[in-house]
Amino acid sequence: MLDLQNIKTLKSDKIWFFRFKKFGEDYLITNDIAKYSFLTKGEFNDFIAWKLESGEKYDELLEKKFIKNNEYEWDMALAFAKKNQFLAYWPSLHIIVTSLRCNHKCQYCHAAVAPMTARDMDMTTDTAKKVVDTIFYTSNPNLTIEFQGWESLVNWDIVKYITEYAEIKASHLAKNVTFALVTNLTLMDEEKLKYLIEHNIYISTSLDWDEETHNFNRTFKEWNSFEKVTYWIKRINQEYEKRWLSQKVWALLTVTKKALPKYKEIIDTYVNLGLHGIFLRPLNPYWFAAADLKNLGYSSEEFVDFYKKSMDYILELNKKWINFSEMLSSIYLSKILTDKDPNYLDERSPCWACIWQVAYNYDGKIYSCDEGRMLARMGDYNFQMWEVGENAEDVYKNMINSDTTKTMVQASTLDWLPGYNDSVYKPYIWVCPIHSYKTTWNVIPNYSKDYKRLLDYAILDYIFEKLKNEEDKAVFKSWVLWIKNDFVVSQCELI
Ligand code: SF4
Repeated sequence: MLDLQNIKTLKSDKIWFFRFKKFGEDYLITNDIAKYSFLTKGEFNDFIAWKLESGEKYDELLEKKFIKNNEYEWDMALAFAKKNQFLAYWPSLHIIVTSLRCNHKCQYCHAAVAPMTARDMDMTTDTAKKVVDTIFYTSNPNLTIEFQGWESLVNWDIVKYITEYAEIKASHLAKNVTFALVTNLTLMDEEKLKYLIEHNIYISTSLDWDEETHNFNRTFKEWNSFEKVTYWIKRINQEYEKRWLSQKVWALLTVTKKALPKYKEIIDTYVNLGLHGIFLRPLNPYWFAAADLKNLGYSSEEFVDFYKKSMDYILELNKKWINFSEMLSSIYLSKILTDKDPNYLDERSPCWACIWQVAYNYDGKIYSCDEGRMLARMGDYNFQMWEVGENAEDVYKNMINSDTTKTMVQASTLDWLPGYNDSVYKPYIWVCPIHSYKTTWNVIPNYSKDYKRLLDYAILDYIFEKLKNEEDKAVFKSWVLWIKNDFVVSQCELI
């Protein structure tokens, strides 16, 4: 048993604030700059009783700022600022929904998709210009414009208009702009591909494993969706290689019930297509009507089992020199093993909503993030920030100062949230106000009912267990390097 008296008499002039939990026979401790250490029970008791005054473990804890020295405050302030430097910037990721039309009727989102005949649900040139004008008022010098839709290529002329107008604005205003296109690839052709490569537009798509599962999940009456998407993944990667470009098409898997027993086949499909890695995304409650859960859904235990088996298999492949990684774990690993937060996807405190990511709908309405925009499609406008207008500067100021912005920042900042703030995993986790809202009708997450947290904790337990093994840790370290060099696309795509 842990001696609570030791904790009460902890020497706070020598030992800085840390969080801990029992981890098997050992203790896992973490601090506010996301450093971690495993201590045996004896080491832990010596540490908190201040009997650990020299040796290897002492040196490690000193270096990781669990133990104070003379430079402690200065070093800690710098390290903390580095970890949270994303807070110095305003929105960088601007998602533009070019159309609500889509040629698919996927199982996860068919209720919200507009038919191909609904041309009034395309973004107009006038709205697109106002959107771009608003975007360029951000103080952030680095912007990513991500084209989404329901299918972004349906409104190709607007994709081109926005790209070219944003390129001109970026050169006049000395900002860096990167583009990403989220597409189901069924409307791709050689001319579009040439344009996308020439304008440096990264491509992201969805691939739900083998032909049968992909075509079941992603219903497409006109052609075979799987054939189209795999053809274009190969073709685009071939073109990148021909032009000596290091990037690859990004493909995302949405895990449905059908996928659970087939983790090996799924990963092999991705490897055989020459892809860098996979993102094992669980289903989200805002993607589809609850009725679909019966056919597509699973319990958190089932997902965790699937995740662990997939990860074991991916580690096995890496040990056979097959370079392949899992995206969600790579994000956690970057937080755990590097001095900088990767600021990748929404996974930070506060989350990206409103202050890093903004979603502009086809009609000019502006939302906290793509999930907020999706809820509006279902008639819930709670996450709208503002709407584009004639004066882009005013629009920008109003959206940034909106009540939605303030609510989302407060609801996703872990420091004041009971349970989350005390957790040993606090430096690595994040909360999603929209997930909380959709599952409990409150944007403030409820620690004990937070299903997403249970998944996050199970994944982190797995990762920390593997970090105890030097061979696995070496593989994980290579993923961290890889993530630093790749491009950023939001997790919010549903294509
Ligand atoms: S974490 Fe949730 S609320 Fe925050 S940006 Fe992502 S989807 Fe939106």
